[in-house]
Amino acid sequence: MTLRVRFAPSPTGYLHVGGARTALFNWLLARKEGGVFILRIEDTDRERSSEAHTQAILHGLDWLGITWDEGPYFQSEGLERHRADAFTLLERGWAYRDFSTPEQAAQDREEQVRVGSRLRRARERAEAMSADEVEARLARGEPFAVRLRVPEGETVWEDRVHGEMRFRNEEIDDLVILRSDGTPTYNLAVVSDDVAHGVTLVMRGDDHISNTPKQILIYRGLGKPVPEFAHVPMILGPDGKRLSKRHGATAVGDYEKEGILPEAMVNFLALLGWSPGDDREVFTRQELIEAFSLERVLKKSAVFDLEKLRWLNGQHLMRMATADLLPRVEARLREAGVLLGPGAPSPPAGDAATRVDLATLVELLKPRSRTLEDLVAQARPYFTDPVDYDRPSVEKHWLKDVSGARRRLEAAMGRLQGAPWEAAALEAELRALAEELGSGAGKLFQTLRVALTGRDASPGLFDVLVLLGRERSLRRLEAALAYLRAEAAGPESRKASLTPPDEAD
Ligand code: GLU
Repeated sequence: MTLRVRFAPSPTGYLHVGGARTALFNWLLARKEGGVFILRIEDTDRERSSEAHTQAILHGLDWLGITWDEGPYFQSEGLERHRADAFTLLERGWAYRDFSTPEQAAQDREEQVRVGSRLRRARERAEAMSADEVEARLARGEPFAVRLRVPEGETVWEDRVHGEMRFRNEEIDDLVILRSDGTPTYNLAVVSDDVAHGVTLVMRGDDHISNTPKQILIYRGLGKPVPEFAHVPMILGPDGKRLSKRHGATAVGDYEKEGILPEAMVNFLALLGWSPGDDREVFTRQELIEAFSLERVLKKSAVFDLEKLRWLNGQHLMRMATADLLPRVEARLREAGVLLGPGAPSPPAGDAATRVDLATLVELLKPRSRTLEDLVAQARPYFTDPVDYDRPSVEKHWLKDVSGARRRLEAAMGRLQGAPWEAAALEAELRALAEELGSGAGKLFQTLRVALTGRDASPGLFDVLVLLGRERSLRRLEAALAYLRAEAAGPESRKASLTPPDEAD
């Protein structure tokens, strides 16, 4: 039998981490076993559902690359079938009409709380009613709800994650399946739809475990085959409490904005409640499909660890082909106004020298970045003149010894004027210079790094020089010297020195 699984979100909120994880597990299993993955939007709660949420859920799945084979179906389209199923249950004796007034219903609830056990008062009233009285009430158009007649005994299933699950039926309410306004409740609608869609395995969060015995009884009442069930563990925040807004972003879209790669998000979500059984952590989508199995879905709750997501993102960034990354970085640099968009005025004359090769830059930055946002922030100084100096870097590497820093910058400028502009040659020149200055290579390189990039952390110095080109590198060293001369002369003149050299006069 072909495996048929589904993801059935309610569009009452955005696609959150828990929902995305459930969708992913279903999708991975379907892809692994050549099954069918169905998407169903459970929009019967008219007040809380919205089109915007539906769109956000579809977009989130699309971003993650979770593609569906059937759907999206909308639960609200099945209302007639849900009603018909409720009447089938009535005909088969698995349900009864409940004509209770709101007062009676309130009294029943109050009594149940007081006595502390499941009383079936509505059922008693229904059974005490003669067929004629029922007919008469129906003829008068009196409203009624339909309740499931929970049989005696036990409801048992072999959960694919938790093993045997056993519920005593006396603990299950005669739940309302059709409200007096004719709308179905969740448990009826979900079973009716899963039957209609031929679902063979229901995989969902284990917060639904208590619904499962009720749903199994509805399948039995309808005379339909009961699917298999797999309840996947909850996701908790680092404090051990159920993941919620308190723990920061829980909507998948927030991670998209932050510059998390969908590849990393999928990898991260897969490890929330599933383990490959060895110590591998970084997986491509295809590797996940191959490795995934229900047998390795864990019973105990998973903990959402944001640091791990960032780390995984760094791993995926590093492994990603620069050609795939480039359009995403470019789009973000445009958004940030750092790169000009197509159709924007051509760059001012002389600006060719300020262009860097983006592909080379991305290649250098991707192993040093955790997120796209982080990569873009590191890329920025290569496009903007004058360089925005990071104050702590300036203090540490220049201001502690202003005259030493000036000496190093001046010497480097002299040395670099005529040097062949190629990484190995530049390295040889600068190492020889450090030797001559007797200052230690680290000291010289950090002084230069701050001048070239504004900060003391960057890709390798010689790569940076090559990337910036001779003219622009020398201009930046000159600007750094001007800054330090002004520093020596006092804070007022330092401000003036921050005007780029070619605009200064
Ligand atoms: N709409 C339900 C939810 O979002 C689906 C539950 C199920 O998968 O059966 O929780």
